[in-house]
Amino acid sequence: MQPVIAVNDVTVNVGGITPFTTIDFPGRLAAVVFCQGCPWRCRYCHNRHLLPTGEGGRYLWQDVLAWLKTRQGLLEGVVFSGGEPLLQKQLPEAADQLHRQGFEVALHTSGVYPERLAKVLPLIEWVGLDIKAPFDEYREITGGGNGKRACESLRLILESGKPHELRCTLDPRFFTVDRAEKMAKQLAELGASHLVIQVCRDEASRRNQLVSKEIAACLENILPAVTYRS
Ligand code: SF4
Repeated sequence: MQPVIAVNDVTVNVGGITPFTTIDFPGRLAAVVFCQGCPWRCRYCHNRHLLPTGEGGRYLWQDVLAWLKTRQGLLEGVVFSGGEPLLQKQLPEAADQLHRQGFEVALHTSGVYPERLAKVLPLIEWVGLDIKAPFDEYREITGGGNGKRACESLRLILESGKPHELRCTLDPRFFTVDRAEKMAKQLAELGASHLVIQVCRDEASRRNQLVSKEIAACLENILPAVTYRS
């Protein structure tokens, strides 16, 4: 555990809260804390209001902690999501405060900050890493992001042995069979065994973009396990 730090000495910019979820932290009843700010601009991002980094959060971290205290015994875990939670420099201290309140802690991350992930990984119970594209083509999806950073984050997670999930939102405007094959091979070479495919939703038509049979077959041929989430 970290040295005890005063509640008021920790800052986390919180842009939103989901008070109860059964799907964001496997096996736990949890709340989700959405952190404000993200350096990337994925073309399909559903949380655009959380992207500006210069803004203070909608909620004070101290108020979130006080609310969570009232959920002790009802919730088992807290998920940091976003935005990009690792943008919050005091995430390790915040995770420690949650542990002291009796909660397990999960992290959803894009992998943009591997150095910060390395510090936070030992302090959390579960991590979900977004895979955006083949690592050398990240800029196409993220608006300029560097896939080498995400690749390093994946390496850290796999080396740590930490329970995790790798998930990819499969944008049909980007993913050809060739790109899906390249991405799956890169993941397999690093030792990834399971990929969750999240269906991309078209905001204009409000319809899910189905994954083609060819792409599904290609992923399933290369990776030991592929599952689909709508
Ligand atoms: S990394 Fe996540 S939060 Fe950031 S722009 Fe992409 S989808 Fe949105």
